[in-house]
Amino acid sequence: ITYRVTCGAVPMQGRQGVLVSFEDITPMEQAGQMRRDFVANVSHELRTPLTALLGFIETLQGPARNDTKAQERFLGIMGAEAERMNRLVSDLLSLSRVEADERVRPVDPVDLSTVLQQTRHSLAQLAEDAGIEMSLHLPETTVTVPGDSDQLRQVLTNLIENAIKYSGRGTCVRISLGTPDYESRLRGQGVRIEVSDTGPGIEAVHLPRLTERFYRVDSHRSRELGGTGLGLAIVKHIVNRHRGRLQVESQQGKGTTFTVILPLQGQQD
Ligand code: ADP
Repeated sequence: ITYRVTCGAVPMQGRQGVLVSFEDITPMEQAGQMRRDFVANVSHELRTPLTALLGFIETLQGPARNDTKAQERFLGIMGAEAERMNRLVSDLLSLSRVEADERVRPVDPVDLSTVLQQTRHSLAQLAEDAGIEMSLHLPETTVTVPGDSDQLRQVLTNLIENAIKYSGRGTCVRISLGTPDYESRLRGQGVRIEVSDTGPGIEAVHLPRLTERFYRVDSHRSRELGGTGLGLAIVKHIVNRHRGRLQVESQQGKGTTFTVILPLQGQQD
């Protein structure tokens, strides 16, 4: 705990007194530390591809000047590094946008079956290339929640992309949408969207920290797969903005399930 101690002279019943005040500034200190950590992390994440780019430019201007084969290979690597920087910048922008309007509730009616179908469609090729079977299970009735369809699509994209990215060939990704029955609805239970995979799972110690910015279970693997370490932080902020909840259950060697619970119309308060 950090206290700010202020001391001052004050007149008290005709005499000179001293007033000492103690103010708990721990939350401010923590916010400041978090900001500094964030800037350090962003700098580090940007510097890694930048250093690689500068190194390759130097090589192309020097030793590899007349080596067309090497030039082709280096340009390929430079393209991948530039793409990594591009992904990082666009994830940072998404994060700052959702953080900025987290207090404003999105209220457009969003048909979740359509959002799920669109997301599944846009990731079908990625799953096929990764050798993963993806299935979608929807209820027969239309499920509409108040929200922002682009942001909800982003939540699902991030969760499904992770499930595809981190589970090996021959595994399955199951996406389902569940609606509460009448009684549960009265008890305030919302809509459940589940993204389950049969991948490697995540050790329990990591689960509470997964939505922290730049937190990765295996940094090397995340970077190799093109991860920025911001995907789940973005998911958490969008779900918060929708007054929803994000849950994760995982068993090592068996798989992981991320569940997004969203309030229905009239359940938001
Ligand atoms: P990244 O860009 O690294 O994927 P995320 O914020 O999306 O960042 O995820 C944080 C970390 O959580 C990942 O680096 C990975 O270690 C772990 N993770 C997320 N989803 C899964 C999953 N479905 N299976 C296994 N590990 C996962």
